[in-house]
Amino acid sequence: MGLVNSVFVLRDAMINGYAVGAFNVYNIETLKAVVRAAHEKQSPVILQTTPSTIKHIGEDFFAAAAKAAAAKYNIPIILHLDHGNSFELAVKCIRAGYTSIMIDGSHLPYEENIVLTKKVVELAHSVGVTVEAELGSIAGVEDDMYVNEDKSTFTDPEMVPHFVEKTGVDTLAIAIGTAHGLYKGEVKLDFDRLKKIHNLVDVPLVLHGASGVPDGHIRKAIELGISKINIATELKVAFANAIKRVFKENPEENDPRKYFSAGEKEVVDVVKKKITLFGSGGKA
Ligand SMILES: [Zn+2]
Repeated sequence: MGLVNSVFVLRDAMINGYAVGAFNVYNIETLKAVVRAAHEKQSPVILQTTPSTIKHIGEDFFAAAAKAAAAKYNIPIILHLDHGNSFELAVKCIRAGYTSIMIDGSHLPYEENIVLTKKVVELAHSVGVTVEAELGSIAGVEDDMYVNEDKSTFTDPEMVPHFVEKTGVDTLAIAIGTAHGLYKGEVKLDFDRLKKIHNLVDVPLVLHGASGVPDGHIRKAIELGISKINIATELKVAFANAIKRVFKENPEENDPRKYFSAGEKEVVDVVKKKITLFGSGGKA
């Protein structure tokens, strides 16, 4: 199977009340870990990279690795640009073989967010690539951007139908109280807002910043209409902690195949747990 776009995967999730995990990957080991976990659980999966990860490795390297994974494992795999920050980067990723693009114009004035998103949608749809946009802003550090918690604004449900209709987006990231990075305080999600938005539009909704959100909150969010859930920080922490353990036990270790394998194994475990929580196991 080649890489697929998000249409069937996320529509099926929306209709059948489960969510698909979108896992941020940083290198071959984390990419392999996510795909291996999804294959073991027979789950569709979204691999995603942020602009700074692309700067670090290159969109062509990720696309080649994701295509190899899709050829090897018989499950739906989507390669997604997370928090795409320009039309140019969207074009580069589509050319490299990404099958899904997020264009994040959430920091722009509303009308400009519509113009940028629509431009990316028109291009992406002409070549069968799906688009995610964001309305409202999610607190915390995402990639190189920092959004202050006070300044962050939750998604206004009344604006959602207009935005979806004007842009033609396939999926929408909404701000209902999650944050990027690690949580400092108690997690409070605005479930009423989510319910309202879900009732107003017919596109799969995306939850960003879901690392560290209690399982009960995640289950409720899925029940109320979340179809894609982004996990980044928890994978970074798992990968780093496993490698730290290797060096603590054996400070002389210098074989990347050994310390990276420890990280990979830990990421497989985290992803499998998330797939179970999201209910996407067996849906491949
Ligand atoms: Zn995000």
